[in-house]
Amino acid sequence: MAVDSTLPSPLGAPASGKDAKALQFIEEMTKKVDSVQQRVLREILSRNAETEYLKRFSLNGATDREAFKSRIPVVTYEDLQPDIQRIANGDKSPIFSVHPISEFLTSSGTSAGERKLMPTIHEELDRRQLLYSLLMPVMNRYVPGLDKGKGLYFLFVKASTKTPGGLLARPVLTSYYNSDHFKTRPYDPFNVYTSPNEAILCIDSFQSMYAQMLCGLIMRDEVLRVGAVFASGLLRAIHFLQTNWKELAHDIANGTLNPKVTDASVRECMKKILKPNLELAEFITRECSKEDWERIIVRIWPNTKYLDVIVTGAMAQYVPTLEYYSGGLPMACTMYASSECYFGLNLNPMCKPSEVAYTIMPNMAYFEFLPHEPSASRYVDLADVEIGKEYELIVTTYAGLCRYRVGDILRVTGFHNSAPQFSFVRRKNVLLSIESDKTDESELQNAIESASILLKEFNTSVVEYTSYADTKQIPGHYVIYWELLVKDSANAPTDDVLNQCCLQMEESLNSVYRQSRVADNSIGPLEIRVVQTGTFEELMDYAISRGASINQYKVPRCVSFTPIMELLDSRVVSKHFSPGLPHWTPERRR
Ligand code: AMP
Repeated sequence: MAVDSTLPSPLGAPASGKDAKALQFIEEMTKKVDSVQQRVLREILSRNAETEYLKRFSLNGATDREAFKSRIPVVTYEDLQPDIQRIANGDKSPIFSVHPISEFLTSSGTSAGERKLMPTIHEELDRRQLLYSLLMPVMNRYVPGLDKGKGLYFLFVKASTKTPGGLLARPVLTSYYNSDHFKTRPYDPFNVYTSPNEAILCIDSFQSMYAQMLCGLIMRDEVLRVGAVFASGLLRAIHFLQTNWKELAHDIANGTLNPKVTDASVRECMKKILKPNLELAEFITRECSKEDWERIIVRIWPNTKYLDVIVTGAMAQYVPTLEYYSGGLPMACTMYASSECYFGLNLNPMCKPSEVAYTIMPNMAYFEFLPHEPSASRYVDLADVEIGKEYELIVTTYAGLCRYRVGDILRVTGFHNSAPQFSFVRRKNVLLSIESDKTDESELQNAIESASILLKEFNTSVVEYTSYADTKQIPGHYVIYWELLVKDSANAPTDDVLNQCCLQMEESLNSVYRQSRVADNSIGPLEIRVVQTGTFEELMDYAISRGASINQYKVPRCVSFTPIMELLDSRVVSKHFSPGLPHWTPERRR
């Protein structure tokens, strides 16, 4: 079937009739951005006309942009929280949406230390599924033959909780992997995974990873692409292989399954996959026992054509490490999504990480953009954004979020038909991030204050601090540089006290951070590096020598610039690590 597609420099024709339809759909949507957006807004506002939220602002059934923009305020999560709490407590009246709220999606963005709760409705699953269904048709045009093998994807679910009113609260991917859309997906030769559903759906992250890695090793010759959602997840898998290859090789040699994997459904499904294979076990042992792990991905999975991981935004810090482990395989960032809404996809997925641009699909929600410049107040429609400019993304969703600030800053890099393409610039107010954790300036400040209390009896205070997300090792960890004022050197805080300060900081960081530490083991112990007195003054001198104004100089609360790191590290007098795990349970603290 011929398709007049203008997708950027594709290498081949659609791989199938199904692909051709998907590509056609992308073309249609991107050619009619503004009219699709008008239709989406009309649909959302007309179906939700009787909701408490729209009535509160006297929209009176209007469905046009002008009325919508003039009467409905642009809001943040904190503005909506009282209403969200009512839903969580069991209020079933139509507050945001006339459709029943099917569950809450727990965002990795936090509010007062806890994950944000995003109300969603059942049909949103179809919309997410639709976006997923477009990814392979695009990829197949760039990478032929993906139907000849499998994808090794490390996919995980996380703990779910129930709100006081009985609604499920869980991350969006946990919701998706547990849905029939995923569990009973029809066979698609272009989208076959090595991981069985049972392994993906196993809530214990060790058992899940163990089973997924074992399958990946057993099917190593069939693997054509290796991936995880985010780069940090794939590196975690490599680290897992580094620490567990002996046990994995033992299982492969004997056709047995490690007794640490206790989940009955995982054990049952692995029975069908495991057979003794001495040759493979010897190969794994040979490769993994080498000191040098450079190119390990292509050494173990020699037919891998690309890595499928997001390496944009906070994940860009992992590009060099992934290049090292993969021998420079292309990294495909295929989509841009959030708990609030799935936004769009990358139409040129084999481009370099620095060139990734996401095309927002106008059928997913109604999108507005606030120019990211001082005192901007005019909200721009999707079709009207300008190349080169940066914007903050605002969404109005079918689930009932109206003019909601997502917190992402995007830059327009070009257009596909009339659909703008955006590079992800950064998330607003995020200082530190290792994986899905997002720590902002005030959270860091609170953590410092809370730890400083332990220093009081030593007549010591923290006079300056900054931070750094150290991702050189896996898992990455937070490093906090402290300059201390010790008033009584005979009674200076001991090593043990400073270790406890690390743990105290962790205790006061948000629940996503603590979950990553405790349940996922994806962030290592927090480290405090105490620096010599006067180090932060040197830091200021350095900034001023590079043109900073003395009057306006502020200590950067997070650093990554190599000369600054070198300066700080050369002044370190002692290093301290968190001696234990902070508290975390799936239940919310409030
Ligand atoms: P969550 O709501 O926890 O799923 O987090 C969604 C957020 O993750 C988005 O608002 C972005 O800040 C970030 N994110 C998602 N996809 C991408 C991507 N492709 N590139 C960069 N950041 C992303």
